[in-house]
Amino acid sequence: MSWSIRWKVAIGTLVAVACGLLIAGWMTVRSLEQRALTQFGETLEAKAKLVEYGFLALFHSSTPAVTLSRLQDIARDLGIRSSARITLIASDGTVLADNAVRDVDIPTLENHASRPEVSQALATGQGQDVRPSHTTGERTMYHARLLRVPHDRAPWVVRVALPLAQVDRLSDELKRQLLLAIGVAFLLTVTLSIWLAHSITKPLSEIASAAQALSTGNSTMRIRTTAQDEVGLLASTLNQMADQLHTKIEELSEDRAQLLAVLTSMVEGVMVLDARGHVLQINPALERMFGISRVDARGRPCAELFRHQRLNNLVTTILQARTPHEDEIVLPLSGRHLHIEASPAGGERDNEACIVLVFHDVTDVRRLEKIRKDFVANVSHELRTPLTSIKGYVEALLDGGKDDPSVAGRFLNIILKQSDRLNLIIEDLLELSKIESGQISLKEEPIDVRALVDRTLSTIKPIADRKIHRLVTALDPSLPLIAGDDDRLVQVLTNLLDNAIKYTPEGGTITLGAASAPSPYTSDPTPNAIDLFVADTGIGIPEKDRPRVFERFYRVDKARSRDLGGTGLGLAIVKHLVEGHGGQVWVEANHPQGSRFVVRLPIKGGKRSLAQWNQDNIV
Ligand code: ADP
Repeated sequence: MSWSIRWKVAIGTLVAVACGLLIAGWMTVRSLEQRALTQFGETLEAKAKLVEYGFLALFHSSTPAVTLSRLQDIARDLGIRSSARITLIASDGTVLADNAVRDVDIPTLENHASRPEVSQALATGQGQDVRPSHTTGERTMYHARLLRVPHDRAPWVVRVALPLAQVDRLSDELKRQLLLAIGVAFLLTVTLSIWLAHSITKPLSEIASAAQALSTGNSTMRIRTTAQDEVGLLASTLNQMADQLHTKIEELSEDRAQLLAVLTSMVEGVMVLDARGHVLQINPALERMFGISRVDARGRPCAELFRHQRLNNLVTTILQARTPHEDEIVLPLSGRHLHIEASPAGGERDNEACIVLVFHDVTDVRRLEKIRKDFVANVSHELRTPLTSIKGYVEALLDGGKDDPSVAGRFLNIILKQSDRLNLIIEDLLELSKIESGQISLKEEPIDVRALVDRTLSTIKPIADRKIHRLVTALDPSLPLIAGDDDRLVQVLTNLLDNAIKYTPEGGTITLGAASAPSPYTSDPTPNAIDLFVADTGIGIPEKDRPRVFERFYRVDKARSRDLGGTGLGLAIVKHLVEGHGGQVWVEANHPQGSRFVVRLPIKGGKRSLAQWNQDNIV
């Protein structure tokens, strides 16, 4: 059991005061008793002197002869006068007279020589003793004096005795009074000590509960005290400490909130590890990148959490070297590329920030880099093919071919064809480049689909006729106006029809149609888009190639495309323009034969800046 300071102080004070009172009382009683006894002894001695004087009168010449009965009479007389018991004892201890004993019993009294006061008186002239009386049984004080008998007779001893009952009564009374006084003093002390303990411990209790509140995080608590003593000093020191703590906590909270805001809003993933490589902190971006939760991650070893060899190696290296390092990893499941910058943070102990790793998602950058590399390689390849051919035929002409007019004519025709092809590629590349750099801005005007179809067909018909194709239109009777760029949509349809003509053997059927459709971007089934489609009865596109035909320079059959004068850029341009209108384009199989290209455009238009679109969707 633990006692509060209040009780310790109260009980301690009480015990100390009680002990003090008891000791003082006991000493007082003893000293007063002693004093009373001394006074009693002195009175007895005075009485003994008077009694001695009374007996000495016996020996004057005028007095009758000394007999035992006369001694007894004098003893009785002196006893009445002095209110004491008087005993006269011969020097051999025989009792000669005693006023407390009947005359007849005197001879039967035992010898008194061994009584301490008697033997003392015989030896020194006087003696004193306190003991219970043989005769009365009461506690009695005896005082004996040597009585020098004249005529060279042996001295007698005169003894005066008084019971100490009076002194004992006085002492008992004294003890009672003192006990009462001690009791009252004790009660007063109880009250006083409780008040004292309360007044001392009250501010201490307040300080204790304030300190407790402080320890539970309530840094706003303050102790109110008017005390000017050490307790007051302690309280004001504690208040100052709480003030400082409060300020520090607020500063830390602000710092923490700012840090958390920064960490939370960062696009980059951040992870903080301690000196053992255990995770201390990760931010939401990192949670998303690795599909883990902060709660699960905290405190776990990085190696166990991510199980990524390259990341582990990086962490191990920086833990050992304590110098900044960087690396790039690829996540096995998502295939995302993460560039990691790891820097030492200085902490050496467990739970102290030792390394900070910042993860940048560079997947898009790497994808763009690859696309650009592939594009450059493709462009070089596409340009080199006609150039090599032109160079070859020019050399052949120079080597003598020019001298043979029929060979020269044939070679020059080939050179012309290859130059046209080169020109076509460069034109298409320039067109794509214009679209990508945002130089082409799409208009958003109301377009009558029927007029759009007619306009396209009039430009494409001569080319279709050359291959004896049948051009068919399939238009819904009630088509709404759509918002878009008339010229660019003609370009889209012309490209698709041009392909259909190219990749359909002579005598095929090419259908250009339009129908209402649901929006490409909402789940609302009400038709708020238009599907424009170009279907042919040509060679078709294998299913695996369909998603890729919109990539730059992707061709299902390279040789056939080249023979037919294709550049591999037509569908890429189509895709850019359609998506620039907020639409979609895809290809599917046409039944029973051929391909069917569908362009879905929102009726209200959904024009996006082509430069913006290009940033998001470079293919
Ligand atoms: P190209 O100039 O080679 O035609 P495109 O970008 O227009 O380039 O087309 C890409 C490839 O898609 C073509 O090389 C061809 O293999 C295929 N393709 C396009 N349209 C059709 C079609 N109507 N029928 C069959 N294949 C087609």
